[in-house]
Amino acid sequence: MSWRRVAPLVLIAGLALATPQAFVVSASEAEPTTAASPEARVIAEADDQVHVGSRIALATPDEANLTGELEQGGWMRGVAPAHISSITANGEPVAFDPQDKSFFIGLDRDAGSAIELVLTQVDGQTRKQTLSIAPRDWQIERVNVAKGTGGGSEAWWKKREPEWLAIRDARARETGAEGWRQDFIWPVTGRISGRFGRQRIYRGEPGSYHSGIDIAPGNGAPFVAPADGTVVLARTGFSLEGGIIILDHGAGLNSAFIHLSQLAVSEGDKVEQGQLLGNVGASGRATGPHLHWSLMWRDARLDPLLFLPPMP
Ligand SMILES: [Zn+2]
Repeated sequence: MSWRRVAPLVLIAGLALATPQAFVVSASEAEPTTAASPEARVIAEADDQVHVGSRIALATPDEANLTGELEQGGWMRGVAPAHISSITANGEPVAFDPQDKSFFIGLDRDAGSAIELVLTQVDGQTRKQTLSIAPRDWQIERVNVAKGTGGGSEAWWKKREPEWLAIRDARARETGAEGWRQDFIWPVTGRISGRFGRQRIYRGEPGSYHSGIDIAPGNGAPFVAPADGTVVLARTGFSLEGGIIILDHGAGLNSAFIHLSQLAVSEGDKVEQGQLLGNVGASGRATGPHLHWSLMWRDARLDPLLFLPPMP
């Protein structure tokens, strides 16, 4: 399959995100072409069902076509040319589908200002694509209180350690799920009671930031899978998380849902986007009933809001 056939589909998928921040990155930003001209964008947005692929010029044959949210906590999906043998992002190897050459990259909450992709072709030649990552203005709260030690007693850690290991191991699992290819949907709708990235600074000492978004639809509300995946953890009674489900979306991307009151799935289950996962609750360490949803790609923490359309 040639890149020319794959690429228009990817561009359409990107435009379908329909958020104000959505963008289409075509090739190198350093060398603007007709590819990403504002005129082309306007045409595409006004008429998003028709001719999108043909009106936007594509990356050169040696470059990856990319869509996504290029900011801290964001992500990108790409399709590399057919003649590729390896891809790295800031020096780290990136896995890609051997058939269609598509791949996913997450951008950590504290990601630097640029990401450099290096595509190595089967003939050994390399091609660099450097993309800027927009900084975010995280919600920071300075409090005149000493930071807690964060550590529990030895007895507490004895219970906690196996939970922590189970979460770490679950998040590291690769199940071949393909939810990473999809446009995500809201697992449940309701008031957003906590945003991703929010952080307290205790007398100059940073606390850990909020690792997901909190949605408060009311106690017991059912919630669904935002994208296809495999359940890699489904437990109750964890010290901090209470009821927890972790869903592998493949390509290193996974979701965790915590404070659940009920679980509707078991470890090993393959679930489809929109399928019931469980019910919202206040189990574990929670001040009130809400769904805490966090998304990770490898070790990078991502902002779920950047995967979603506006709340319906
Ligand atoms: Zn939370």
